[in-house]
Amino acid sequence: MSDKNVLIQVKDLKKAFGTNQVLDGITTDICQGEVVAVIGPSGSGKSTFLRSLNLLEVPTGGQILFEGTDITDPKVDINRHRQKIGMVFQQFNLFPHKTVKQNIMLAPVELKLMTKDEASKKADELLARVGLPDKANAYPDMLSGGQKQRIAIARSLAMNPDVMLFDEPTSALDPEMVGEVLELMKELAQSGMTMVVVTHEMGFAREVATRVLFIDDGKIQEENTPKEFFANPKNPRLKDFLSKVL
Ligand code: ADP
Ligand code: MG
Repeated sequence: MSDKNVLIQVKDLKKAFGTNQVLDGITTDICQGEVVAVIGPSGSGKSTFLRSLNLLEVPTGGQILFEGTDITDPKVDINRHRQKIGMVFQQFNLFPHKTVKQNIMLAPVELKLMTKDEASKKADELLARVGLPDKANAYPDMLSGGQKQRIAIARSLAMNPDVMLFDEPTSALDPEMVGEVLELMKELAQSGMTMVVVTHEMGFAREVATRVLFIDDGKIQEENTPKEFFANPKNPRLKDFLSKVL
C-alpha cells in the first residue's frame, strides 16, 4: 500500500522510570484506519506505550510524531493535539455527579469546540450509536460496567478524535459485559476509526485488528497481521506467551 496515511510515527521511543527501562526503543507507524492490537505480559510496558502516545507519559528518548508534529518537542501545545486523541481506560473515569449526557457534552463545551446545542445534538447521536439513548439523564452509578464503558467511549468520540487509544477496556468488566463493549469497538473499527488497543482479548485481536504487536522486554518483539501472528508466531517469548493465553 503506497497511499498509506501515517497518523502516528513512533521513533525509537524510550521510557525509563528511574533505573527501570520500561520502553527500550519502540519504532512503529500507525496509519489511518488501522486497528493495532498491543499484547504482552503484565508489566511489559503496554500502558506506558499507549500513554506515551498522548504524552501522559513523557518519553525519556525518541520521538512521537502525531499528524506530522513532533509532540515530544516541549514547545508544542500538547493539549491541542490531545483533543484529537481519544483515550478509554480500564476504569471508566466518568464524573459521578454529572449525568451521562453531561459527561458526554463536557469536554467539547468546556474547550469551546461546540456550543451547548451542538454538543447536545452530538451527545444524542452518540447515545444512539452506543445503544443507550434512554440513559441520557441517568447517573453513572445507575449503569452496569458495560454501559459505563460504552458511555466512556461515547464521551471520547464527542471530541471527534482522529485516533482512539484503548487500555484494556474490558478488563474491569464482569464476563457477561465484555461482549457488548467489544462489539461496539468492532463497529467503531468498521467505521474506519484508527485504533490502538491494549487487550487480553485474543479473539478481538484476531478478528478485528489489522495488525498485532507483541511487546516484551521494552521492545516490539513481533508484529504481524493477526492471521500470521497467531498462526506462525516466531519469537520464542511470543510462543510462550500465546501458549499461556490461548
Ligand atoms: P503493562 O501495561 O504492560 O502491564 P505498564 O506500562 O503499566 O505495563 O508498566 C511497565 C513497568 O513500568 C512496570 O514495571 C511498572 O511498575 C512501571 N511503571 C509504570 N508506571 C510507572 C510510574 N508512574 N512510576 C514508576 N514505574 C512505573
Ligand atoms: Mg497496563
